[in-house]
Amino acid sequence: MISAFENAKKQIDAVALLLKTEYQDKLIFEKAIKSLKTHQKIIKKKILIRMDNGKTKVFQAYRSQHNDARGPFKGGIRFHPKVSEDEVKALSTWMTIKCAVVGIPYGGGKGGIIVDPKKLSDSELENLCKKYGEFLTPHIGPWRDVPAPDVNTGEREMAWMLEAYEKKTGFHSPATFTGKPLELGGSLGRTEATGQGGFYILQNYIQHTRSVPARTAIAIQGFGNVGYWFSKLASNSGYKIVAVSDSSGAIYDRKGIDVEKVAGYKERLGSFEKVSTEKKMNFITNEELLSLDVDILVPAALENAITVDNAKIIRAKAILEMANGPTTPEGEEILLKRNVDILPDVLCNAGGVTVSYFEWVQNLHGYSWTKKKVNEELKEIMNKAFGEILAVVKVKKISFREAAYALSLKRIIDAMILRGRV
Ligand code: NAD
Repeated sequence: MISAFENAKKQIDAVALLLKTEYQDKLIFEKAIKSLKTHQKIIKKKILIRMDNGKTKVFQAYRSQHNDARGPFKGGIRFHPKVSEDEVKALSTWMTIKCAVVGIPYGGGKGGIIVDPKKLSDSELENLCKKYGEFLTPHIGPWRDVPAPDVNTGEREMAWMLEAYEKKTGFHSPATFTGKPLELGGSLGRTEATGQGGFYILQNYIQHTRSVPARTAIAIQGFGNVGYWFSKLASNSGYKIVAVSDSSGAIYDRKGIDVEKVAGYKERLGSFEKVSTEKKMNFITNEELLSLDVDILVPAALENAITVDNAKIIRAKAILEMANGPTTPEGEEILLKRNVDILPDVLCNAGGVTVSYFEWVQNLHGYSWTKKKVNEELKEIMNKAFGEILAVVKVKKISFREAAYALSLKRIIDAMILRGRV
């Protein structure tokens, strides 16, 4: 099995070779790189909850705190049967890197529980969230670690965890969690933030390649929060969305899909497989989606979607990574040799954590911004990050990921040096 954390470490090592020359004290630099390949803290616990049938069930829970040299740990909480210690370690490492890529004042964290939340009733899920919130309480807080939603968690779960945290500490502290419901201090624009941020990167990239939306065919793997919003925003701006998929497979139409319509069908019928049968739409497998002759392929599901085994079949000219870690280093090597641009996750999906940062700022000030302000600020941050990365790509003739990592690791290492940590 591919270890996501091994991949994260390989990515750091590859960029360390590029960055080395920028540091006179090689020993300090090597210490910093070594430290970035470990974690400051991993906490784990087996959480017991009483199920509706009166029996108790045990769930393994984690929180990984990778590096907080640039600010409090920040990162989502994932509920999925495939959550593992390796996965939260990788995801928290990428969070440290991502926050530095877009220049927001956080380090990286990530949490998760091995669970299929669809198999729990609402009351069982609430119970699990509150127990997890209690478990996290001593380790989190606005200036320590600020969790947020990730796969299979959302504002409802954040509200339950916040309640457990505030009950245990005895005071209100909305800035401890982001991605909360609006009524509890959530931010306007948070739900669509990750897709919105990715969309701004798409616009920048299209400008850079001198393409036009109407002639840009896009295939999107994954149609959850991120995939849906990205497709909707791109489609509204005239891009041609030719395929969208979920875990059952993909709906494909080379003339372009009506995203809103298909989203409505999926909402009603549950899966794209059912949508295709019921609505007589063209259905292909996720493997076939990867091999479509499109301009841009957008992995927006889970990690390790593009590997050494399937990179050869990819025909897209560019990959815009919306999921975390969707391309393995070996898969990437094959694609880079064919001059496929890979716009990295740490840039493309940073819109979520950026609006989380805005939510935290609003909570700390007891203030709420308009959606217009949120989106304007987000656009500015995403445009700036793309511009900085593109400049490095052009000057150093390296890939987008290498450029993003080089900029980011430099910011983190400089913060570690300033603190005298290495
Ligand atoms: P989600 O749970 O809402 O959606 C995941 C989607 O992926 C679903 O449509 C699911 O059917 C699909 N999927 C699962 N396995 C698949 C497979 N094998 N093939 C094709 N599709 C598959 O999750 P999300 O919030 O949209 O997150 C998606 C990715 O984006 C994750 O990697 C997550 O870490 C990353 N991300 C999310 C956010 C956020 O704000 N939600 C922020 C940054 C990064």
